[in-house]
Amino acid sequence: MLAQHVLLGPMEWYLCGEDPVFGFSKLEQTNKPSHLCGRVFKVGEPTYSCRDCAVDPTCVLCMECFLGSVHRDHRYRMTTSGGGGFCDCGDTEAWKEGPYCQKHELNTSEIEEEEDPLVHLSEDMIARTYNIFAIMFRYAVAILTWEKENELPGDLEMVEKSDTYYCMLFNDEVHTYEQVIYTLQKAVNCTQKEAIGFATTVDRDGRRSVRYGDFQYCEQAKSVIVRNTSRQTKPLKVQVMHSSIVAHQNFGLKVLSWLGSIIGYSDGLRRILCQVGLQEGPDGENSSLVDRLMLSDSKLWKGARSVYHQLFMSSLLMDLKYKKLFAIRFANNYERLQSDYVTDDHDREFSITDLSVQIFTVPSLARMLITEENLMTIIIKTFMDHLRHRDAQGRFQFERYTALQAFKFRRVQSLILDLKYVLISKPTEWSDELRQKFLEGFDAFLELLKCMQGMDPITRQVGQHIEMEPEWEAAFTLQMKLTHVISMMQDWCALDEKVLIEAYKKCLAVLMQCHSGFTDGEQPITLSICGHSVETIRYCVSQEKVSIHLPVSRLLAGLHVLLSKSEVAYKFPELLPLSELSPPMLIEHPLRCLVLCAQVHAGMWRRNGFSLVNQIYYYHNVKCRREMFDKDIVMLQTGVSMMDPNHFLMIMLSRFELYQIFSTPDYGKRFSSEITHKDIVQQNNTLIEEMLYLIIMLVGERFSPGVGQVNATDEIKREIIHQLSIRPMAHSELVKSLPEDENKETGMESVIEAVACFKKPGLTGRGMYELKPECAKEFNLYFYHFSRAEQSKAEEAQRKLKRQNREDTALPPPVLPPFCPLFASLVNILQSDVMLCVMGTILRWAVEHNGYAWSESMLQRVLHLIGMALQEEKQHLENVMEEHVVTFTFTQKISKPGEAPNNSPSILAMLETLQNAPYLEVHKDMIRWILKTFNAIKNMRESSSTSPVAETEGTIMEESSRDKDKAERKRKAEIARLRREKIMAQMSEMQRHFIDENKELFQQTLELDASTSAVFDNSPVVSDMTLTALGPAQTWVPEQRQFVTCILCQEEQEVKVESRAMVLAAFVQRSTVLSKNRSKFVQDPEKYDPLFTQPDLSCGTHTGSCGHVMHAHCWQRYFDSVQAKEQRRQQRLRLHTSYDVENGEFLCPLCECLSNTVIPLLLPPRNIFNRLNFSDQPNLTQWIRTISQQIKALQVLRKEESTPNTASSRNSENVGELQLPEGFRLDFHPKNPYSESIKEMLTTFGTATYKVGLKVHPNEEDPRVPIMCWSSCAYTIQSIERILSDEDKPLFGPLPCRLDDCLRSLTRFAAAHWTVASLSVVQGHFSKLFASLVPNENHEDLPCILDIDMFHLLVALVLAFPALQCQDFSGISLGTGDLHIFHLVTMAHIVQILLTSCTEDNGMDQENPTGEEELAVLTLYKTLRQYTGSALKETPSGWHLWRSVKAGIMPFLKCSALFFHYLNGVPSPAELEATGTSHFDHLCHYLSLPNNLICLFQENSEIMNSLIESWCHNNEVKRYLEGERDAISYPREPNKLIDLPEDYSSLINQASNFSCPKSGGDKSRAPTLCLVCGTLLCSQSYCCQTELEGEDVGACTAHTYSCGSGVGIFLRVRECQVLFLAGKTKGCFYAPPYLDDYGETDQGLRRGNPLHLCKERFKKIQKLWQQHSITEEIGHAQEANQTLVGIDWQHL
Ligand SMILES: [Zn+2]
Ligand SMILES: [Zn+2]
Ligand SMILES: [Zn+2]
Ligand SMILES: [Zn+2]
Ligand SMILES: [Zn+2]
Ligand SMILES: [Zn+2]
Ligand SMILES: [Zn+2]
Repeated sequence: MLAQHVLLGPMEWYLCGEDPVFGFSKLEQTNKPSHLCGRVFKVGEPTYSCRDCAVDPTCVLCMECFLGSVHRDHRYRMTTSGGGGFCDCGDTEAWKEGPYCQKHELNTSEIEEEEDPLVHLSEDMIARTYNIFAIMFRYAVAILTWEKENELPGDLEMVEKSDTYYCMLFNDEVHTYEQVIYTLQKAVNCTQKEAIGFATTVDRDGRRSVRYGDFQYCEQAKSVIVRNTSRQTKPLKVQVMHSSIVAHQNFGLKVLSWLGSIIGYSDGLRRILCQVGLQEGPDGENSSLVDRLMLSDSKLWKGARSVYHQLFMSSLLMDLKYKKLFAIRFANNYERLQSDYVTDDHDREFSITDLSVQIFTVPSLARMLITEENLMTIIIKTFMDHLRHRDAQGRFQFERYTALQAFKFRRVQSLILDLKYVLISKPTEWSDELRQKFLEGFDAFLELLKCMQGMDPITRQVGQHIEMEPEWEAAFTLQMKLTHVISMMQDWCALDEKVLIEAYKKCLAVLMQCHSGFTDGEQPITLSICGHSVETIRYCVSQEKVSIHLPVSRLLAGLHVLLSKSEVAYKFPELLPLSELSPPMLIEHPLRCLVLCAQVHAGMWRRNGFSLVNQIYYYHNVKCRREMFDKDIVMLQTGVSMMDPNHFLMIMLSRFELYQIFSTPDYGKRFSSEITHKDIVQQNNTLIEEMLYLIIMLVGERFSPGVGQVNATDEIKREIIHQLSIRPMAHSELVKSLPEDENKETGMESVIEAVACFKKPGLTGRGMYELKPECAKEFNLYFYHFSRAEQSKAEEAQRKLKRQNREDTALPPPVLPPFCPLFASLVNILQSDVMLCVMGTILRWAVEHNGYAWSESMLQRVLHLIGMALQEEKQHLENVMEEHVVTFTFTQKISKPGEAPNNSPSILAMLETLQNAPYLEVHKDMIRWILKTFNAIKNMRESSSTSPVAETEGTIMEESSRDKDKAERKRKAEIARLRREKIMAQMSEMQRHFIDENKELFQQTLELDASTSAVFDNSPVVSDMTLTALGPAQTWVPEQRQFVTCILCQEEQEVKVESRAMVLAAFVQRSTVLSKNRSKFVQDPEKYDPLFTQPDLSCGTHTGSCGHVMHAHCWQRYFDSVQAKEQRRQQRLRLHTSYDVENGEFLCPLCECLSNTVIPLLLPPRNIFNRLNFSDQPNLTQWIRTISQQIKALQVLRKEESTPNTASSRNSENVGELQLPEGFRLDFHPKNPYSESIKEMLTTFGTATYKVGLKVHPNEEDPRVPIMCWSSCAYTIQSIERILSDEDKPLFGPLPCRLDDCLRSLTRFAAAHWTVASLSVVQGHFSKLFASLVPNENHEDLPCILDIDMFHLLVALVLAFPALQCQDFSGISLGTGDLHIFHLVTMAHIVQILLTSCTEDNGMDQENPTGEEELAVLTLYKTLRQYTGSALKETPSGWHLWRSVKAGIMPFLKCSALFFHYLNGVPSPAELEATGTSHFDHLCHYLSLPNNLICLFQENSEIMNSLIESWCHNNEVKRYLEGERDAISYPREPNKLIDLPEDYSSLINQASNFSCPKSGGDKSRAPTLCLVCGTLLCSQSYCCQTELEGEDVGACTAHTYSCGSGVGIFLRVRECQVLFLAGKTKGCFYAPPYLDDYGETDQGLRRGNPLHLCKERFKKIQKLWQQHSITEEIGHAQEANQTLVGIDWQHL
């Protein structure tokens, strides 16, 4: 403030030449607003990128611009910003289409090219601004980059220096929060809170003074900190700085922010600042202010960095002219900035180097920097400079890296990212300059790849297992990071023929250098098979060094394909060094690599450990394969297409170390006869299989454009088809299985529709893509991207599909597209002599079928190869032009028998033999397919030749009869198979049912669906339609005997009063689900009086149960054992479990449902006590009088008891004086009818409700125990009634058993509990409750009727009444009491409703009250007005009043019906079991009420008038009517979870605007939304930890205590994840209710697809909450996933 006033204010005046208030607004008006948005993103702010139009994925829009842009209807991606970076709206280079949003479009209309923004400013002003900016900017830079701690720059030095210093602590990324906090507490002697505060600021701003005082004082703190943090790492940075320096630096930062805000007023001012900043200083090169700041970046603390980065972004990067100049400065300093960054320890987002994304991704700038500043070469050279550790051959070496080197390696990787940015937008036209510089960069890149070619070589380990796993990850990290760059290099080359040719030459030259010594040394060896011979080197993969890293070869392969694709190879063959190519050299290393994979698979490299297995895995993995495995295949294809296939095959056999086997005719025979080592045979078998597989791939993989005649779409389609052949997949799974390009695109969306159908998800699970049936014919079993597991799964799935379609199960090779001419000769490998020899040999082994010298999969591959060859020949025949001769003559060759020496039969003949081999059942269909195709080809050839040959007829005949025979066999087999399948299907169906049923049982989701078993079936059907639930007229129900089975001992037992107790597992929890006032908080639970429940129901006690019955003693034994076990376990492992034994928690032994107590099962308790049932019962008035007298008598008695020694005579006189009501025997104490075991359980459950409900220590003697039992009963009934109403379910519809059992037991328990409580205590409660309606001079300070929840009152009164009635022998029955209590409370509720809920005026006034009810209610209302002194509003219409009463009282009536139903066991009327109308009349009847409720008042007007008067005369009522306080109105609005927006990004936006409430404007790292009340919290962070019951807890846990009494439902906004919390130790994550268009959630927001609210899923979460199932859900999740138990939920 002071700085603004004293220092900055005057400068603003000077700048404007007038009051800045006017000056700046003038500037603003004349300024033409920029057409660039440039909004700098806050941490967590949503950003959008259009997948259709963005030039690269770094082009993003802010939410506002996005919503106003065309892209909102495109395919877009949403992410949350990590802070920094700005909106690219308006940048025409960033977008292919629609660069402006609506808002910024307006500003484009009048842009004139390159207009100087200074023209709008006066000369004078320009000069002044220049002055001010120059001075201020220079000052700020000077002071911020000042490095001395104790003196100021000369011109600022003060004459007298005070001895005041700051001890300044700096941030580093080495020490943890905990370390810093701990150290600070020691060093500066502060509290933990303060230390947390310091640490938070240090982390945020980069530095914080932790002590102020004289030099000595600060120095001392410094030494403590340094000493304490230097043990393992370098110490924390601390400086003791003179106070004046700190002050100047702070002001320097202010100046920079000030400059930033000033230039916001005008483009002209901004331009001046840019000029000032880039002006070269007195020291020449690199001396401009901007340079100086950049170059000292790594020395500045975080806070200072972010201030000047922001200033750069709002000035230099927003001015197109200066952006270019700045880019040049940046590129000039690039090497130094990167070196600084690599040694610095701050994350890249705090480094100036991070601006590269803003500069390099602008295509025009990138191009300019490449041509003018040679940027590509600079980046690559800088990168290479930082990786100096090389082996003898000059290759990178990561083995034995020190920690520091590893750290540097991690940081230097960001340079690859820069290279990617530079290359990401490809040039549309090439200048010679660009060509030259690109090729120069390409040279540098080749140097880099050369250092990788052959790195991390490995040698097969024999004998001993390797001792230490070698380092392999670094090399693969490098490869992975470079993958996109390598691809992009090729893309660039593909764009220009000249560049491509040059690049190809360069690459080849480098490859030759790499392998210059390749043929040196030993004499070549000669191989020969079938009269072909070739020379090759002697080399064994299994004995010599081999490396997986061959980037130079692979780049050459990529370029070779481009030559083919762009047809450069045919256009300018003379320019290419094709003659220099030596095919054996090209194939050598890729072949070795593939042989290595084969040998690893054959188990030959087992002793080399996991590092090799991992490398092979990544080699094939989707992240790497494009520039590794795929390119090796291409390289082999290239080689084969240029050489004699026989030669190639022989070299291959030799490399696979199989040459001996196939060159020696009887090798196989010898194999089986001799006793050879079985492992070796196995190994060789696998190698043969692998080699055949490789040949299949070489011939079959022609889906890369350039290799085969296909386009990119065909390639991706084929990938998808093969993925979906394994099984249907979700969108994200598919994306993961496909390679992403540099723009993170797979190209899948454009083709998926063509090959797959989408299936929407249900309430759980996700949407799935299924392969279209017509695509199945393109399935290739030997697709090269299948892993072994995928291959066998796909095979199984495809065969099954074929069986389902009643087809044969052969999986023949698909028809393939033709090769490009450059690769065309490759197909000849199939008909080469060596190939035929290999095939023949293997078939012969199969025919001979001797021992284990061959394998089925070997044969399967040979069959596949034969199939491929046949397909090929067929294709050739079909596409042959007239007169051309088809040179592909596979069919002829396989019909010929072997040459003289071995006289083997022809391949064809062997196939025919094998067709009938019993041991080849699986392959029969395939062999059949081959023979059929063979015949078809033969026919084609014959029909095309002039003379059809007749002699074949015989064979055809023979063939057909054989076919018939076979068909018959096949038919029979088919029938048998179908029968088998049917049986299997039946069995699996049964199994599924079983699981489903048990799922229902185990999940216990409390679904109130009609499908769940109806439990009311066991109630007797009472034909009388006039069922009455209570009162003297209560319908008599014959007592039923109830038998239950204990789940623990399986014994059956009858529920009886005197027998052993049976109990239900139950879970009692506090609940605020029904709360209308979440801010209420019980201060002192020990003193809290729960007798009266407020109508806001702020906190209740809910009881739930899974409904599983046990003997009390069985349960006791079970619980004891669980307790003992857990205590032992906790001592041993110190682990949390999903349940807290010390709190009495356990899991139901049957369903593992979380429980914390048990409820006893009881018969209707009223029947036991209802001794008398006279027909002559008192009416309400008489009854009230009697009860009042009885209460009075009791009160006198109590008083006498409490004052026993003083004047006892007089007191007893009083008792005498008092007219004891007739038949009232105060001395009578009823005998408890229950068995000991039941009594014990009554106490157990009562105590549990008390303990949990009030959160106090258990005390079974406490007078509040019975109250808590009644409350829990009332609350649970209310919450269930609420759920039923919300879902429009009938009151007595089919409830799930567990709910029904729970309510019944709970109600009966609550009714029986008084028998184990003190009689006088219960009587005392009754009298007090009673007095709230019928005034009594002994109870004065009772709540007024507005502050009582009437249903709670009803339950408590009814359940306490027997305690009084048991001493009354006058003949009043319990039923009568129930009825009168019910009527009385109902009337009080009506008055309550009339007072609170009828005040609103209704528009559609009915003129005259017509109905009887309406007239009656009007009269009643008038009475009320009279008693309240006309404070009540003017009379609304009777119609309106009656409607309000009816609506308001409905929930109460429904709850009462449930209550009396369970209490007395009277079945419900059929009408109430059906959905539909409100059934008001039926309800009234069932509850023994007149349909016109107001009649109650009229019938008892005598006493009611005086009662109403007493209710209305209450002070609180008066205050309410005068508007001085609030009251709940009826019916209470249902509680729902908060409304969530449809579009998830609006939530992200909301959260990004949310700052931590504790640390002043800081952005919260984990903003978390309470779904119950909508509060946003700053979760999982030190700043918002609070203390709760002596422990530090995070904001969420703290919030659950106030908002959900311990239970909470949250949405973690950044993660898009729902969080359930219960207590401090329990929690789990739950799928969010947001889905993308593919029906998938995105937990962690990793994919960034737009997310939309799924209402059904959100409803499901809401239901869990309303049903109090959150804790249970957590329990199940934790049982299923033990890692959840270990999370510190309380810190969230
Ligand atoms: Zn914007
Ligand atoms: Zn915009
Ligand atoms: Zn778009
Ligand atoms: Zn039992
Ligand atoms: Zn259970
Ligand atoms: Zn916070
Ligand atoms: Zn809340």
